[in-house]
Amino acid sequence: MLAMEEDTESYSPKPSHKHWPRPLDYLLKEQRLMFILVGMAMASFFFYLQPEFTFSQRTSPLDHPHQQDRTLTNFQQDLDTSQHSELMERSTMAMMHNSGAKMPLGLKRKPLRIVVTGGAGFVGSHLVDKLMARGDHVIVVDNLFTGRKENVKHHFGNHRFELIRHDVVEPLLLEVDQIYHLACPASPVHYKHNPVKTIKTNVMGTLNMLGLAKRVGARFLLTSTSEVYGDPLEHPQKETYWGNVNPIGVRSCYDEGKRTAETLTMDYHRGDQVQVRIARIFNTYGPRMCIDDGRVVSNFVAQALRKEPMTVYGDGKQTRSFQYVSDLVEGLVRLMEGEHVGPFNLGNPGEFTMLELAEVVKKVVDPKAKIEHRANTADDPHMRKPDISKAKELLGWEPKVALKDGLPRMVEDFRRRIFGDQKEGSGAAE
Ligand code: NAD
Ligand code: UDP
Repeated sequence: MLAMEEDTESYSPKPSHKHWPRPLDYLLKEQRLMFILVGMAMASFFFYLQPEFTFSQRTSPLDHPHQQDRTLTNFQQDLDTSQHSELMERSTMAMMHNSGAKMPLGLKRKPLRIVVTGGAGFVGSHLVDKLMARGDHVIVVDNLFTGRKENVKHHFGNHRFELIRHDVVEPLLLEVDQIYHLACPASPVHYKHNPVKTIKTNVMGTLNMLGLAKRVGARFLLTSTSEVYGDPLEHPQKETYWGNVNPIGVRSCYDEGKRTAETLTMDYHRGDQVQVRIARIFNTYGPRMCIDDGRVVSNFVAQALRKEPMTVYGDGKQTRSFQYVSDLVEGLVRLMEGEHVGPFNLGNPGEFTMLELAEVVKKVVDPKAKIEHRANTADDPHMRKPDISKAKELLGWEPKVALKDGLPRMVEDFRRRIFGDQKEGSGAAE
């Protein structure tokens, strides 16, 4: 105790110490203490914000599209005070947004920086349209395996849009507020084409994107699938159902890949407090689907338009539920913006056998269209229909577009892409 007092004394300004009255001395010490405390508080405040600032300055391709290799010093010189305050405001807004906090009255929501992996694909490109329309900055990350530049080319030249050709199996550093992770081929023909690549995309791609989310504090949404239920023994499928999946079959690269992606997502959430969302998507159709991707709706529509027989696999009594793409996109955005982790089934509960689907396509495209039976593929689920009560209750979401209304919109797009200016039925392909 004595030693401590001596130590403290030795730091006091010796000459004046004798003359100052004790209370003033005490006040000065307290003031110094206050300075130290305030200093520490300010330092920790800036330390907390710094990763967002430095990272934005270093890697933000949206502010400096062609200058990603520029040094941090260059960017610091470029950033004037107003940009600094904009970044500060944006990161505060994003933190409020992601934490679900209410925006104070009179404050407009700042645009978010959002990455959409697989954004050049069918679903991704429609999601990008919605995010762009509400004024956000969107970075599409896509290796263009099944996606097409055409799907997003109407955004080229918009300063809020960027397309990065990149494989999610490799790590990527970006400063973003939200990550919609869609990158993965969805058609059975595509995902069976290179099964090892499919599982790598699901496992390593998801790990990389979760790592990014953790590093920059972004909210992460995984587009999982109804395939996690496998060939279901429960019907309709609720989120609580654990599924009936063959772990060694030809569909496993996708089914088990997505199941692992869900596991990783929950482990990053529980272990690293990453904000996550999980959507289990049921069969979705609409404009911009790949014409020859082998999925049933695209096959039937393209075949009927080309005056070829519609190929029904097996006896055609297996069922699926078909959701129009705009309904799905609405559900994904609600899920991302809401406060519930999920998983949530996002699908249209209307259930059709493949033979019934062929009848609907006949009505819309060509009443004379023929049906041809083909052998079915291995492990094809016998039935599928989502129970969407959880999404209805917690997200206030349900699909609005019935098959009979959505199908003509897709047929129009396919007609244009297949025939272009040529006469319909001449057999011209895309
Ligand atoms: P899609 O094949 O049209 O789009 C997938 C996109 O991901 C493509 O643009 C593709 O190029 C890209 N991609 C694939 N592997 C990649 C990789 N390694 N790195 C970067 N990009 C890569 O499929 P979609 O129908 O738009 O499906 C989008 C997502 O939704 C997928 O994750 C899919 O599993 C999920 N999903 C879709 C459906 C559906 O019916 N459409 C159903 C269930 C789940
Ligand atoms: N199917 C079909 N004819 C086709 C393509 C698919 O009858 O030309 C069937 C397939 O056997 C499955 C259903 O349609 O039962 C849905 O297949 P799809 O590949 O669209 O998606 P899945 O739900 O199997 O992932």
